[in-house]
Amino acid sequence: AKETGKARCIVYSARQSGPPEHDISLEAAMFGAVREGEFLLYYQPIVDTRTRQIQGFETLMRWKHPTLGMVPPVRFIPIAETNGLINLLGAWALKAACVQLKQFQEAAKRQLYISVNISPRQFRNDKFLDVLDDALAFSGLGGDQLVLEITEGTLMVDPVHAEAILTRMAERRARIAIDDFGTGYSSLAYLKRFPISVLKVDRAFIKDLPDAPKDGAICNAVLDLAKHLGLSVVAEGVETEDQLRYLDERGCQYVQGYLTGKPMPAHVAMAALTEDMYT
Ligand code: C2E
Ligand code: CA
Ligand code: CA
Ligand code: CA
Repeated sequence: AKETGKARCIVYSARQSGPPEHDISLEAAMFGAVREGEFLLYYQPIVDTRTRQIQGFETLMRWKHPTLGMVPPVRFIPIAETNGLINLLGAWALKAACVQLKQFQEAAKRQLYISVNISPRQFRNDKFLDVLDDALAFSGLGGDQLVLEITEGTLMVDPVHAEAILTRMAERRARIAIDDFGTGYSSLAYLKRFPISVLKVDRAFIKDLPDAPKDGAICNAVLDLAKHLGLSVVAEGVETEDQLRYLDERGCQYVQGYLTGKPMPAHVAMAALTEDMYT
């Protein structure tokens, strides 16, 4: 079984090095898609493990292509990252998400937060702080209601630059979440160096719970680490009641996954929030 896994991995990386033909036409279509407004945002609830009350939403980008249907982000984000379109798409997403959160809060009559994925290229872009300030000013949202999700890799490319940007974000009271925590190649030293608030435990460590002792040990270790560092933890990809119970028993305060809410269009999220008011 190990052999097969290895071979697959090689095939996969070989394919990645030269984009297949259809990705080239996909790339061409993306520019038109921006003009046509084919990109949209879905919102996935991040809930309190115990009460299941919605605390915030992660925004997940979707591309509704007129003939291909829904193109998943794993297909178009890497292309946008390569050709730089991610800067435009990402700026739009950040602003739209902030505006949407305002409306969610008005409907729910309470404070929520919005968590937005920031790609490595976007994070490195000179204009990034301006984009951030523009989104906050335009929407009237407080920086403390915004969480920016970055990966370990994003921090490691240029730690000196990353530290400067993160400090500026902290000045705006925006929080930083480490996305896909535990799947990168970095050391834990960055948790000491950078002002980080949230660890998002990758679904890879959650999906086989509660029957996978090694995954359980990793989750426990992350929860323990977070507790001592004063960070909050969101477990990603929670799909079953057993997983939720397991995480709750170990003190994981927040979960996100199909069990407590799939990514959904804004109007559905709005309905989920107002239902939530009476539970
Ligand atoms: P991610 O940031 O790790 O997002 C979580 C992914 O897990 C999402 O996939 C979400 O739909 C999926 N997911 C959530 N709960 C469950 C669950 O219970 N089970 C399973 N199997 N999956 C679950 P999605 O929406 O396809 O996005 C994939 C990736 O694309 C994201 O991974 C993120 O890296 C990237 N992405 C999505 N939207 C944006 C964006 O606006 N900007 C940037 N830079 N990247 C984005
Ligand atoms: Ca994310
Ligand atoms: Ca993630
Ligand atoms: Ca991921």
